[in-house]
Amino acid sequence: MDWNSLKAAALGCKKCRLCETRNTVVFGEGNPSARVMFIGEGPGKTEDETGRPFVGRAGELLTRIIENGMGLARKDVYIANIVKCRPTVEQKGFKDRPPDPEETSACSPYLIRQIQLIAPEAIVTLGNPSTRFLLQTSTGITKMRGIWSHYNGIPVMPTYHPSYVLRNGGEKSPLRRDVWDDIKKVLEKLNLPIPG
Ligand code: SF4
Repeated sequence: MDWNSLKAAALGCKKCRLCETRNTVVFGEGNPSARVMFIGEGPGKTEDETGRPFVGRAGELLTRIIENGMGLARKDVYIANIVKCRPTVEQKGFKDRPPDPEETSACSPYLIRQIQLIAPEAIVTLGNPSTRFLLQTSTGITKMRGIWSHYNGIPVMPTYHPSYVLRNGGEKSPLRRDVWDDIKKVLEKLNLPIPG
């Protein structure tokens, strides 16, 4: 399936129960030929309202990592999630939750095809669900982060999800140092300069 057909299929998708409560399908955004791809777990409230990935508070932090930390623009990278519709506790629309295995299995073919089409030189998984899904591991992010793994030959760097960073210390979270250490490894892998 090519990019346009894939996007059209996702935008009209009803393959899992998340379609019943979504406002929008958050397909992903960025450069379809990006060198680096960021993968989170699923859209939150703001993402569901806008149809764009990572645009809430966590998204602002990710944007700062990309722009200030990496010296790139959001449009240079590609940002997506495992599931394209917002999962919430009991689907009541209040509290976000990670996608369950059924939802992941229904939706992940879209992500897998996105990765095939983009063919990035590196992937950054953000948090446990995307790391566990892509690397088929049950090991937690604390042990996985900062260490290169591979998905179908593509180097994968797991790091903390920006929401987790914000929940653990906010803007001054000590976890930000860990994320920056991980991101520097990605810059090295891509032969990109490390901003001072
Ligand atoms: S989460 Fe994925 S599989 Fe489920 S309805 Fe949305 S696009 Fe379809």
